[in-house]
Amino acid sequence: MRYTIPDKIKQLVPYQPLEGDYQIRLDANESYISLSPMQRQKLQEQFVNLPFHRYPDPYAKQVCQSFAAFYQVNPELVTVGNGSDELIGLIFSAFCGDNDKVGVFAHDFSMYQIDCSIFGVPCEVIPKQPDLTIQMDHAISYINQHQISVVVFSNPCNPTSLGVKREEVIKLLNETQALIVLDEAYMDFWDQSLLDKIEEFDRLIILKTCSKAIGLAGIRVGFAVANPSLTVALKAAKPPYNVNCISQEVAKTILSDKEYLMTAMQQITAHCKWLNRQLEALAKEYPILEVVYPSDTNFIFIKTPLAKDIWEQLLKRSIAIRHMGDYLRISTGNEQENQTLLTALKQILEQYHGEGVR
Ligand SMILES: *Cc1c(COP(=O)(O)O)cnc(C)c1O
Repeated sequence: MRYTIPDKIKQLVPYQPLEGDYQIRLDANESYISLSPMQRQKLQEQFVNLPFHRYPDPYAKQVCQSFAAFYQVNPELVTVGNGSDELIGLIFSAFCGDNDKVGVFAHDFSMYQIDCSIFGVPCEVIPKQPDLTIQMDHAISYINQHQISVVVFSNPCNPTSLGVKREEVIKLLNETQALIVLDEAYMDFWDQSLLDKIEEFDRLIILKTCSKAIGLAGIRVGFAVANPSLTVALKAAKPPYNVNCISQEVAKTILSDKEYLMTAMQQITAHCKWLNRQLEALAKEYPILEVVYPSDTNFIFIKTPLAKDIWEQLLKRSIAIRHMGDYLRISTGNEQENQTLLTALKQILEQYHGEGVR
C-alpha cells in the first residue's frame, strides 16, 4: 500500500525559534545566570574521564540522587527525561489509551496541545477565567462532565505567570478521577509545590526541569516524580538511553551544588519581582499596557494591544522578548538587562503616547 504522511503531521509547522543574534535575550524564560569558571573547570576535569564508548546509565541514578537530595524526595520515585518535553510526549504517547481524553487549560504551555495532536489523543480545552486564573470548582465540574481522564497544566503557568495554590491542586486531585500531570517547571520561584505530597497520591505526576531556575536549558534534562507504579511505567516506556553521559555529568554536578542553586533561585526571583514592580509603574504611566500580571515565575506577562509593535521595536534595539497575540512575555534578565529593557520600553511607549495612542 502506498504510504502518505498523516494529515495531522503534514499540517504541523516546525518550531521556529527566533532567528538572528540579539544582545539581550528575554524570550525563552531561561536563566540569565551562566555557570561560574570554577564550575566549568570542575566539569571539564570530569568530562576527560567519561566512558564515551559506553552507553549511559539508562536511569541516570546519580542525577536522580542529586535531584532527590536537593528537593527532598525519594530518589526511587524520580524518572529522568531528555528535557521535560520528552516526558510530556511520553505521557501523551504511552499513558493515554483509546478511552482517554486529555484536558488542557487555555492559555497554557503550547506543547501540551501540540503533543495531543501529534499522538492523536482527544483533547478538551478547559476554560480559564477572563482574568486568566483557574476557578478550580468550575474546572473540576468541567473535567467530570466531559469525562476527562488526564489533566496536564503548568503551575505556576507559562505563559500567564500565575500560580494555583497547592490546596486547590489537592482539591483537583480529590474531586476528580483523572491522572493529574502537574508541570512545576517554574515552582522554584514560588512556594506551592506538591513534591512533598507525592507519596500520598496515586494519580499524580509532577514534572520538573533543569532548563529554568537550574540554568541548564542546553543540556536537556527534566524529571518526572510519581508514586512507584507510575514510576515503573514511566521507566518502562521511556527510551532506554534517553539522557546522554555528558548531560548526566553536568546535571549531577550542578544539582549537588546547593549553594549555587539557592543563590540563583533567590537572585532570579528578586530580579523578577523588581522588574514586575517597574513594569506595573510603567503601566500606570502608559495605560496602553492594560494589564501587568503579578508574577510567580521568572517572567512577566503583559496584556496590551500594542504587543506586536512593541515586540518588533524591541527587536530593532536588539532586545528579544516573546509576543503572543495581544500579550507579551518577558523573562527577567540581570539588573543591567532589565534596566536596558525598561529604558527601551519607555522610549517606545513615549513615541506612541506622542502619537495620541493611549
Ligand atoms: C520551559 C518549560 C518546560 C521545560 O521543558 P524542557 O524540555 O525541560 O526544557 C516544561 N514546561 C513548561 C511549562 C515550560 O515552560
